[in-house]
Amino acid sequence: MSEKPIISVQNLTKSYSADITSGVRDINLSIPEGKIISIVGESGSGKSTLMKLIYGLLAPDSGSVYYQEKKVLGPHEKLLPGHESMKMVTQDFNLNIYAKVYENISSMLPNTDLKAKREETEEMMEFLKIDHLANKRITELSGGEQQRVAIARAIITEPKVLLMDEPFSQVDALLKNELRTDIERLSKYLGITVIIVSHDPTDGLSLANEVVILRKARLQETGSPVDLYNNPKHLYTAQLLANCNILSRSEAGMLGLNVQKSEIALYPEWIKIGEGDTGPFTVKGTVFKGFYEELILEKNDVSIRALNVSPGTYQKDDEVSVSFNRFLEFDS
Ligand code: ADP
Ligand code: MG
Repeated sequence: MSEKPIISVQNLTKSYSADITSGVRDINLSIPEGKIISIVGESGSGKSTLMKLIYGLLAPDSGSVYYQEKKVLGPHEKLLPGHESMKMVTQDFNLNIYAKVYENISSMLPNTDLKAKREETEEMMEFLKIDHLANKRITELSGGEQQRVAIARAIITEPKVLLMDEPFSQVDALLKNELRTDIERLSKYLGITVIIVSHDPTDGLSLANEVVILRKARLQETGSPVDLYNNPKHLYTAQLLANCNILSRSEAGMLGLNVQKSEIALYPEWIKIGEGDTGPFTVKGTVFKGFYEELILEKNDVSIRALNVSPGTYQKDDEVSVSFNRFLEFDS
């Protein structure tokens, strides 16, 4: 990242208790302007804490957050907590549930120019495709619609940075694609830097320019989705992103792999079935996944999952030969 970051996080630490895995610990991070950043980690890894520290809702124990090279003030250092150039959409949306959609959004703007206020609210509702809901009350909306109102409310004040805590856990599978498209549009057309927090990496992988992996309060690694997926520096990253097979060196040896380090990650799509000489493997079962299936293969009591894009080709107890395109080795 050569461009000047819009946000820079330096040696940031915040703990809630003596437990060193509570909060976040010694985080360093630069966030480039206009990009979509996805912060990924298991539940309890410190994602929400990091987001609140970036926004200024929490004060760090040590270290700092800088917004365009100026220190972000904590909640006790200013009248209204939260940085004025950022907005956060939380999991509870924070809407006025008795008011109408229109009022929820327009109330974010001052009354100095009523015509502009109306026009901007209408524009924002159109942008997020909720203009037909203008006169509905929040209680009459679905979760996905409420989320759009919350996003509209956040971005109508033209923040430079939008923070979203677990936005994908609020919508069902069908709406996830729409939410992805919305986030892409507001990044592209409004130039907003978007920081998304998610416990499920697959939600952000196709969307993010940069992925940040948190593990037990610490930053594990950062990179583009493609780099992190294909060349993770840590086994944990591979596990989190790729749903891969993890084998010890001796298990790998049982499969005929020559491994130097103590653990290996073998992605299901790196296993080629029906070719090669590392055989025979026995097909122990198939797991239907729709347009593909997972084959459970076993050799010398070691079992692995392989991707098969032509479901139905193999039956249980078939013997197949296998080759490995690639595998990753890690020191534990
Ligand atoms: P995530 O958003 O990744 O699920 P959080 O940032 O909410 O994680 O929490 C990180 C860790 O800090 C967890 O172990 C959690 O229990 C702890 N924690 C978070 N908020 C508080 C709090 N207000 N008081 C005490 N512990 C907290
Ligand atoms: Mg959280």
